[in-house]
Amino acid sequence: MKKDLNISLLPGDGIGKEISNQALKILEWISKKFDFNLNLTEELVGGASIDKLGTPLSDKTLGRIKKSDAIILGAVGGPKWEGLKFEKRPERGLLKIRKELDLFANFRPALVFDPLIESSSLKPEIIKGLDILLIRELTGGIYFGEPRGIKKISEEKYKGFNTLVYYTNEIKRIAEVAFETAMTRSKKLCSVDKANVLESTELWRNVMIECSQNYPEVELSHMYVDNASMQLVRDPKQFDVIVTTNMFGDILSDCASMLTGSLGMLPSASVGVSENGERKAMYEPVHGSAPDIAGKNIANPLAMILSVSMMFKYSFENETISTLINDAVESVLKKGFRTRDILSKNDLILSTDEMGEKVLEELKQ
Ligand code: NAD
Repeated sequence: MKKDLNISLLPGDGIGKEISNQALKILEWISKKFDFNLNLTEELVGGASIDKLGTPLSDKTLGRIKKSDAIILGAVGGPKWEGLKFEKRPERGLLKIRKELDLFANFRPALVFDPLIESSSLKPEIIKGLDILLIRELTGGIYFGEPRGIKKISEEKYKGFNTLVYYTNEIKRIAEVAFETAMTRSKKLCSVDKANVLESTELWRNVMIECSQNYPEVELSHMYVDNASMQLVRDPKQFDVIVTTNMFGDILSDCASMLTGSLGMLPSASVGVSENGERKAMYEPVHGSAPDIAGKNIANPLAMILSVSMMFKYSFENETISTLINDAVESVLKKGFRTRDILSKNDLILSTDEMGEKVLEELKQ
């Protein structure tokens, strides 16, 4: 593994700063312990960038983060910027990073830590031992399709429209990632679409089937998204790897988060390949900027800390450090320490900062 870690940290908005501080603590300790040179630069994105630079992502920031080995992002958005035109909103900054770096494959693992079984709204026997991986296509589909907009038709009537478009090559590359990933796990892949009513996802299904010819060992199944959302809650352990479109993946992963106890527990990795063949990746929690709890020091930083673990696994190919972080998180939970979102009877409530400290203490041991 390389000795220089060039990392861009983009805290963003709302709870983004609070949880990023915890990721930073962990990173600084790891870099000292394992003797890395941590070259970390903090950058602006989202509302924070709009307030300072007038844009959700400046060209300078984009240029700098493109050169880093990995990007860690907190979250963007909030009520303060909701009145802005669509292309000026904080979320556009995030979408631009994904598109410009071509981070087309988004890995969203939903793992249930044993000590959190009681925090889930589902029965323990349904979620105990759950370990599923949702792979979301991230740079195509309805979030990027053109034409899009709101048009005035008459004095009283407006038309709001988006385009759900997928090209064969976009589906093919995410399919390959999904099949390759399934090969490293239980060789079961479920592709989620809405092929009964949406042509773009009929193409999605056809390409998945075509790609499956190259992976005869993988058992490929298909499910409509409405059924998949129901099955995720009814019997989540029937799944191992799920691959789906940008919008369906966005929705299903929030659903999967509640299986794990809280949205504050779900990390993610968005991976792509740059023009010169190098792997590019951004790590961020699945959740948003949580304006309702921002600034209160009560947010759960574990999704962010687990995203750092994913960074060591995917960008720096260091499973040892990745496992070390996951184990530290599990130990803290085993000892009964909780932020409010994952609280059940007799647990000890911690603030965001205290939870970061506890994980650090555990790592040091
Ligand atoms: P959200 O994920 O921010 O919050 C949903 C609920 O989950 C809230 O009740 C919140 O308090 C809770 N929650 C989220 N993260 C938590 C954490 N770490 N610890 C404890 N509780 C947590 O979704 P939202 O309210 O729909 O959106 C708020 C803003 O975030 C919007 O502007 C939205 O566009 C933006 N957003 C950004 C991203 C991103 O940056 N990747 C993702 C989703 C939403």
